[in-house]
Amino acid sequence: MSSYQPIIGLEVHIELSTKSKMFCWCSADYFGTDPNTHTCPICLGLPGAMPKANELAIKFAQKLGLALNCQVQLSSKFDRKNYFYPDLAKGFQISQYDLPFSGKGHLEIDTSTGRRAIEITRAHLEEDTGKLTHAVVEGEKVTLIDFNRSGVPLMEVVSEPQMNSAEEAKTYAQKLQQIVRYLEISDADMEKGSMRIEPNVSLRKAGGKSLPGYKVELKNINSFKFAQAAIEYEIKRQAEILNRQEVPTQETRGWNEQKSQTISQRTKELAHDYRYFPEPDLVPFVFDQNYFDEIKRGIPELPDKKTERFIREYQLSAYDVEILTRDKNTANYFEEALRVGKKFEIPTKHIANVIINKKPDIEKVLPAELIEGIVSARKAASIGQDELERIMREVLDKNPKAIEDYKKGKENAIMFLTGQIVKAASGKVDAKKVTFLLKERLK
Ligand SMILES: [Zn+2]
Repeated sequence: MSSYQPIIGLEVHIELSTKSKMFCWCSADYFGTDPNTHTCPICLGLPGAMPKANELAIKFAQKLGLALNCQVQLSSKFDRKNYFYPDLAKGFQISQYDLPFSGKGHLEIDTSTGRRAIEITRAHLEEDTGKLTHAVVEGEKVTLIDFNRSGVPLMEVVSEPQMNSAEEAKTYAQKLQQIVRYLEISDADMEKGSMRIEPNVSLRKAGGKSLPGYKVELKNINSFKFAQAAIEYEIKRQAEILNRQEVPTQETRGWNEQKSQTISQRTKELAHDYRYFPEPDLVPFVFDQNYFDEIKRGIPELPDKKTERFIREYQLSAYDVEILTRDKNTANYFEEALRVGKKFEIPTKHIANVIINKKPDIEKVLPAELIEGIVSARKAASIGQDELERIMREVLDKNPKAIEDYKKGKENAIMFLTGQIVKAASGKVDAKKVTFLLKERLK
């Protein structure tokens, strides 16, 4: 593989978790519902039905754009992308062409060669299509159409072809998923199809600068694991073709799980085949800077910032912090447990370890209950009287100033000494008991 360098770009589709669909009032929460129960004349594309844009979906799209450091677009519009396919009742999809909601941006990922910023080409908003299911009914091959998904707000985030391995592509997609979940704009669940990734893969001679004259797009991938496997398979397949002095065909291929290989689906249409033109039923949008500032204020602390802060503030290892910040709820849970645990002088590292190793169900166990558990476990395993005596003596010997302060009437000096003793005992002692013993000792 050393003679070629993989060139990988990703198109990621994300269904936004708004209550209603993109251009009508049907519920967008269609997962697991009976087919064709979430439909109306608008999302079925019946003649004369007029779309209305979902304001929240647009805000969600712009929020993700800002989180991905994208240039904000003060003016934007929807366009019609014309093509015929049975899952698209209207014969066109409302999408965005030359004025997407977000322009160029970047996403930083950690790779084997260090941190890299992968450029984002654009992030736009469109409507999802219906869903086709191929089945056999009464011995006959049929295709079933479910329009519940038709018209669900769908974002497309397009990266530049700047990743050079399947691992990097996976890392990029996972980071994007993490940010989307931090923003709470989608559950970005690949199994449910609310996040779908389409890698495009090509190879160039190692050391080359220009992009290869072809690319292969991979579709229908529903897990990070399969994405990685499909890209790795493609890299090998294309290298074999290039080794024969041939050029791989520009095409769309799907991932076949059973055979663990990519299968040719169709040759790719060019952009002008879609005959894009401005959507005449929706007026263009104009936004001002204040509008974007307002959205920016609603962006929570994102994974990179939180990771940096946790390492700095809590003196934990990068490994621990990576696990604690993987999702926002766990990070919040940890910080709430710290707040409660402080009263019991439980060391930060100890709380982090319990959350990382024992993996409490954070939906069911409250942070306060977790701390309660730690406190009682600690009492059960508390150190003996001799050991406590030894630690107390040691801490008192080291802190004559605090003893002096206490004797002068500074109450918090005793709290400081208690803290030192609890710490030296690795938390295996009751703080109240220590304070009591200290007060007796220093009378
Ligand atoms: Zn509808």
